[in-house]
Amino acid sequence: MSEAIEGLPPAPPPKPPRDASAVIVFRRAASGLEVFWLEREQRLSFAGGFFAFPGGKVDPADAQVPVEGASGQAAQVLVTAARELFEETGLLIARGAQVDQTSLDALRTKVLEGGSFGEVLKARGLTLQANDFVPAGRWLTPPYLQVRFDARFFLVEAPANQQATVWPGELAAGEWIRPEDALGRWEEGSALLHPPNLNALRVMSRFTTVAQAAAELAAPPWCDDFTARHLEFQRGVHVVPLLTPTLPPATHTNAYVLGTKDLLIVDPGAPDDAECEKLVTVVRELMADGAVPRAVVLTHHHGDHTGGVKYVSEQLSLPVWAHALSAERVPVKVSRLLSDGEVLELDGPFPMRWRVLHTPGHATGHVCLIDERSKAGIVGDMVSSVSTIIIDPPEGDMAVYLKQLERLRELPLGALFPAHGPIVAHGVAKLEEYLTHRAWREAKVLEAVGSFSMPVGLEEVVPRAYDDVSAFIWPIAERNTVAILQKLVAEERVMVEAGKYRVA
Ligand SMILES: [Zn+2]
Repeated sequence: MSEAIEGLPPAPPPKPPRDASAVIVFRRAASGLEVFWLEREQRLSFAGGFFAFPGGKVDPADAQVPVEGASGQAAQVLVTAARELFEETGLLIARGAQVDQTSLDALRTKVLEGGSFGEVLKARGLTLQANDFVPAGRWLTPPYLQVRFDARFFLVEAPANQQATVWPGELAAGEWIRPEDALGRWEEGSALLHPPNLNALRVMSRFTTVAQAAAELAAPPWCDDFTARHLEFQRGVHVVPLLTPTLPPATHTNAYVLGTKDLLIVDPGAPDDAECEKLVTVVRELMADGAVPRAVVLTHHHGDHTGGVKYVSEQLSLPVWAHALSAERVPVKVSRLLSDGEVLELDGPFPMRWRVLHTPGHATGHVCLIDERSKAGIVGDMVSSVSTIIIDPPEGDMAVYLKQLERLRELPLGALFPAHGPIVAHGVAKLEEYLTHRAWREAKVLEAVGSFSMPVGLEEVVPRAYDDVSAFIWPIAERNTVAILQKLVAEERVMVEAGKYRVA
């Protein structure tokens, strides 16, 4: 994105977090301790495609269910934990009568179909006991995400006589896994994790007793007021979202810290020094752990990607690297020019090899970085999971942009890390979606031009071609329409006459 466009409303303030509960459920198997984790459906607005422990938001009816040994809000969040665990895995942590697996499945169906959890328990003579749910920390989703939770975690041992299973719905899959193996999946980039789940797996990988694990879970490292400072969604890719003046509905630009010893810092975009300090703090904390920052890399020259480059590079005494076509347009001296195909090697316990791809279209000097091992893609403004990418001629070129998107789609790609919006777990699927959407929009622009019997101006094309979005997007849409029309003109599908357009 480039500078803010006049006339657009400011982004909405972050919403207050919703109360939620999550359950770190474990069992002692012959091969050692195992936890039950879930893969969330890609389409979910919160952590789509991520791996997580069972959990969900508090239901007002949870306050009606009695808990032996707890009352008030402490009881309510515990009921939420028990109910979500039951709904998502079929495990029912309750005392009282024995219930066989067939009956449990029937009860689960009843609850999933909207039946009262409290009534189901009561009818079976079952009660919830506070002792069965060991408090295991509290986590607040950072304010940059639109969907936020205030989540209470519990540590729970699964009953030996029950089967954990995932039924189709919000969850793609679920399985028992050794914490070490789950961490291996996170390391190779095939299982993305939010900080509470990463921390839980690390703690459970060194489990000795419930008391030891609970104590460690309740005191996670690198947190302020229950909010994680370190968002390492996959090994060696830290995300630090910084407030920037960017295009609504985006409010932040994601800066990235890549590497596990040698570090690269990508796109410090915040113009505000205090905001940049969040990024510097994360880097310094990694340095205290033995990391060595090597450079600041810029994906392109736009202000919401370079606003903090001077401050951050000076604070950490780092050189700045960028493509030659960006180098003259950024507020600092660029000491190394990046070119297509070269590899930035980062030494460390998990070595990374970031290949530079020159991907013009949004900006002429735009680069992406793809790690050869984990297939993670740092994609700058090529893809946004929160807003439309603006292709603003003459800098922007729609035909070139689409060619680069196609080039990215042909690569083996894992997760995409965009400059704006949440992380995309399945990169190739997202690129497919983008290309389909772009083709659809191009067809709509062509159809809009063709719907007039006379040559038409942009002011007539935009409201028709973008009749599916609210009018306040039209100033941005107009720039994209110009880019689409330039492509159609180059392809001789649209003609220009005295500044107006008609179908060829
Ligand atoms: Zn940009």
